Parts: sequence; structure tokens; C-alpha cells
Amino acid sequence: MPGATVHDAVTVAAISFVNGVYWHIQPHQHVSAAFWFTGTFLVAGYACAGDLDIKSREYRAWGPLRVIWWPYRVLVPHRSWISHGMVTGGLIRTAYLACAITAIVVVAVWGVDLLGQHFGPAAITAGLWRHAVTAIYNHTASALAAFTGFIAAGALHSVTDLLGSAVKPRARTQSRRRSAQ
Ligand SMILES: [Zn+2]
Repeated sequence: MPGATVHDAVTVAAISFVNGVYWHIQPHQHVSAAFWFTGTFLVAGYACAGDLDIKSREYRAWGPLRVIWWPYRVLVPHRSWISHGMVTGGLIRTAYLACAITAIVVVAVWGVDLLGQHFGPAAITAGLWRHAVTAIYNHTASALAAFTGFIAAGALHSVTDLLGSAVKPRARTQSRRRSAQ
């Protein structure tokens, strides 16, 4: 399996090409959309692609916040379709992240509520979700670009793993043959 350095190099090397492809196929050709695509592609490639299912550099990149990925790391089998599926990997991580952020907000508001400040965790969380949905609706092009960049980074990670696995056994067999000669 390629290491984090290889994944980072592939992500950075691919950005111009992938961004160019997205620019041509996207329904709205906005510069802000290209910005969002590039941003989420790089961030997801660095810290939110398939290897969050093990104690990887990606996992450690979250610092103390990596605790939110602990259930994912423990429950998801490494390199399964859940984490490394070309599209499903990114989709599941998006849903997981949305649930994790919601849980953090609920716990934080609930904690403040216990201290005597009555905000109402359900109302606050529903309000935040309403704001998020409105923002996505009002900035469809940017939201779509961010989402596509996120999914594309996960897919590139999985393709790199597949190619790495295909190349490694061949390289190992060749070196074994060479040492046998
Ligand atoms: Zn991987």
C-alpha cells in the first residue's frame, strides 16, 4: 500500500489535471467553484481520504479532533468498500462527518444547557442545519464543487492504492528472481 507521502505527491500532482476536467464538465463555470473544488480536493487528499480506517498520517492530521474518527477507524475494515469505495468511500465520510459535527454541537449545547444557559440543544441543532441547507441552496455551484472535490480526492486515493498493490507484488517477484540468479 502506498504511504502518505506517495498519496500527498499524487494528490498535488493530479490537482491541475483533475481541476481542468472538473472545470470543463461542471454545469456552472464559476471561479469560486474551482477554488472550492481545489480546496476540498487538497484537504480531503491530505486528511480525509480512505486511510482514516487505520492509525495513519491522515488520522493523526486531525490532532485532538481525531477522536471523532475513532469509531470509524475501529468499525470500518481497512481498505473495505466503506472507506475505499471509489464514490461510496467519500459519500460515507461526508455523511459521517455531518453526523459527527451534529453530535459535537448537540453535546456542546447540552453542556452549556446543563450550566444553566437554556438554549435548547434540539432548536440550536435544527437552526444550524437550516443555515447549512440554506447556504448550500444559495451557493449551489460552490457546494457542488466542494462535494465533488471531496469525493474525487477519495477516489484518487483508492486508485493509487489499487495501482500500488498491482505494482508491488510484481516488483517483489522481480527482486526475488534477481536475488535467486
Ligand atoms: Zn488507502
